[in-house]
Amino acid sequence: SRGLVWLRRDLRVHDHHALRMAVKACQEVWVAFVFDTDILSYLLERDLNKDRRVDFIWQSLQELDAELRAKGGGLIVRHGKAVEIIPQLAKELGVQAVFTNKDYEPAAIERDRIVSLALESSEIAFHGYKDQVIFEHQEVLTGQGGVFSVFTPYKNAWLKKLQATDLDAHAVNLDSGRFASIPKSLDLPMPSLSSMGFESTGIQSYLPTGMSGASQLFEEFAGRIDHYHATRDYPSVKGPSYLSVHSRFGTISIRALVREAHQRMLAGSMGATIWLSELIWRDFYFMILSNHPRLAPSVSKKTLLHGTAGHESFKPDYDKIVWESGPKAQKLFKAWCEGKTGYPLVDAAMHQLNQSGYMHNRLRMVVACFLIKDLGIDWRWGEQYFADHLNDFDFAANNGGWQWASSSGCDAQPYFRIFNPITQSEKFDAEGKFIKKYLPQLSKLSKKTIHAPWLAGDIELEIAGIRLGRDYPLPIVQHDEARKNTLIRYSVVKKES
Ligand code: FAD
Repeated sequence: SRGLVWLRRDLRVHDHHALRMAVKACQEVWVAFVFDTDILSYLLERDLNKDRRVDFIWQSLQELDAELRAKGGGLIVRHGKAVEIIPQLAKELGVQAVFTNKDYEPAAIERDRIVSLALESSEIAFHGYKDQVIFEHQEVLTGQGGVFSVFTPYKNAWLKKLQATDLDAHAVNLDSGRFASIPKSLDLPMPSLSSMGFESTGIQSYLPTGMSGASQLFEEFAGRIDHYHATRDYPSVKGPSYLSVHSRFGTISIRALVREAHQRMLAGSMGATIWLSELIWRDFYFMILSNHPRLAPSVSKKTLLHGTAGHESFKPDYDKIVWESGPKAQKLFKAWCEGKTGYPLVDAAMHQLNQSGYMHNRLRMVVACFLIKDLGIDWRWGEQYFADHLNDFDFAANNGGWQWASSSGCDAQPYFRIFNPITQSEKFDAEGKFIKKYLPQLSKLSKKTIHAPWLAGDIELEIAGIRLGRDYPLPIVQHDEARKNTLIRYSVVKKES
């Protein structure tokens, strides 16, 4: 029999559930990827034609294609509507089944439903496998059989449920001779970025792409993982793994990451224990989204997989909050996006995001809290900005992170917990190293005043060559005042116990 493997967020050939099943079941296997215009058109409409994610995918596909060609096959890459292209391709190849790894976003589920219906009418089967997470949907439940909404008990139940077999690799026999060469009429060149309306972003100069890039980062991280607990909160230190973009696009298997973390945890590594906990957060947010699809924007809107506008808070009460609006809000939001708030840690973090598509986790919490609780802006605006700019943007984790910061989420920080951006800076970037990297104009300030330049005396500012308002903005809000306003703003929400 013949099978087609449709890749989406699983751009690898090792430890790949759908690929393994196809190779086991079929004599001839083809592999395809579609640059889906239902997603890309959304980016182009928002002028995001220099999109690092599209470039990351494109680069990663080159490697994948070479790998498959070496095994007798090749990667079929198309540009167009996936819901039409996949059924069409399946018919042209004469396959009996299409194999995929499941995607848990409501819009993706809807896309897959449409594809499976179209295939069904041609008597072609559609298979979806668990690959993206360790435990999906309702595999980990409370003692009463309910869905968890608090992380720590979920994590404990997740760990309790974990068996070695859950982490077994879905090994793919690449030398099975099953990878069929692409028929000449279908072996078209891979669409170039420019033919799809995108520009190259030079991502490879600072982010290793593809399976080899993921392995490289993972190997490097293996040398640091045992210190993760001590380093992970300091943005100027190479503490975290930087693997999120790779787990987002599946250039590495989540089982490989969890296996390493779990083995080291059992051997007593504190760093690995904490890192594993972060990987469980990832499963947690996928589980939350899959059980609460209302968290995502309506699939009928033309925002497939990407748009975030207009969806609900996890705690509906929080939708009573009245956010800043009008030109004032626009002005504050613009300053936040551009890293011009006058709060150095916030601004440096936004520069990191704008320049690289990455932002350190501690800083994601700081800038999100600042936007919501210092500027009084609806968390959805920030969520959207992150969705547009993060290399690792994943609806589930991003929505989870934003709703955590806005206190409206399932296991969020309490509404009265408001980060002080200066204290956060003093604590997590004490020497101002991170700030100086992204805001070199502040590099001559002392480690005392770099966190709040407006508190420096005229003489220090003059010696440092800074005029506030010219070289660096004055703060756009006063934190203490903003804090009071936020507590009033949140008073519409039922008091939490
Ligand atoms: P590491 O510290 O090495 O962590 C290992 C892995 O654990 C990450 O690669 C990621 O897969 C997972 N992880 C870590 N923290 C979380 C978390 N809180 N929730 C879910 N998974 C987690 N992560 C995304 O992958 N995509 C997003 O769109 C995203 N948006 C966020 C928005 C906000 C407001 C906040 C506060 C956090 C967000 N995160 C998101 C979570 C976290 O910041 C990133 O996963 C992490 O910074 C990625 O860097 P890393 O791979 O070096 O992380």
